[in-house]
Amino acid sequence: MNGNQQDNRFIWLSGAVVNVNDAKINALSPTAQFGLNVFEGIRCYWNEAQQTLYAFRLNDHLKRLQTSAELLEIDNPYSMEDLRQAFEAAVRANRYREDIAVRQMLFVDGFSTWSSHGPAGMFVAPIAKKRLSAEYRKEGLRCRISSVERIHEKSMSPLIKCGANYINSRMAMLEAQKEGYDTAVMLNRKGTVAEATGSCIFIVKDGRLITPTLSDSILASITRNTVIQMAGMLGISVEERSVRPEELFTCDEAFLCGTAMEIKSIESIDGQTVVNRAGGSVTRLLQKEYCRSVLGDGPPEWVTAL
Ligand code: PMP
Repeated sequence: MNGNQQDNRFIWLSGAVVNVNDAKINALSPTAQFGLNVFEGIRCYWNEAQQTLYAFRLNDHLKRLQTSAELLEIDNPYSMEDLRQAFEAAVRANRYREDIAVRQMLFVDGFSTWSSHGPAGMFVAPIAKKRLSAEYRKEGLRCRISSVERIHEKSMSPLIKCGANYINSRMAMLEAQKEGYDTAVMLNRKGTVAEATGSCIFIVKDGRLITPTLSDSILASITRNTVIQMAGMLGISVEERSVRPEELFTCDEAFLCGTAMEIKSIESIDGQTVVNRAGGSVTRLLQKEYCRSVLGDGPPEWVTAL
């Protein structure tokens, strides 16, 4: 099948593989009304030479899905094995031989309300999506430091990957786009750098990587963790510490990273050019290593052959 067709693909919905057009959710459910759901975006990469589709860091994504459900107190009837089987069933049903992105969402269904714990439903929806690496030679991202503050642990924890949290990202992104930027970098309540709308941030200064800590109002990003581990393998030192906004203007390189974003260089912040425009040497090295890893040439525990 042609996986590019949004309309003609199969998704897994609460126990059955169905055509996406037949996958219906109750309009009155808490997920529809209040964004009461937790989810993951998971990428799979097609290795042409090996004729194999590899899911990248599948177990880490599924573990985070379970943690998000726990933190939001959603009654989750699915074991890790159930989550993995549903994922595999959805991907296999579409017989993909290309790169894909998969949304796996656990949601509160039924006629309950925003304080309900269940009943839980789940869908797994794959769609064809090319890797960004083909675009690596293009200009980097033009970012705005957002006037929208990143949500705080004491209001809505950014550590929970839930639908409702994305309204915060939406406000920052809309503001940035209105002003002609590609995306936004949000600060936290302390006024230090948190993260972008759907990705984490790294800067490079004097050959060292620097990134905000997990206590700086960020998601525990799996790509951020991948970058830190790759840096270790490549002998690049990493500092996890709070980053002052001024450091964004004086760094040598900067990039955003996330499952959807992969690793993408930042060209400018608030219109001020980052020294090495389209990605300096450290960014390039990490991009290359990431491209290898997603195809199964990195640590074997990072990939699952489907
Ligand atoms: N921060 C935010 C706010 C995100 O939405 C995402 C995307 N999941 C990330 C960071 C990157 O996380 P990951 O590397 O696990 O995709």
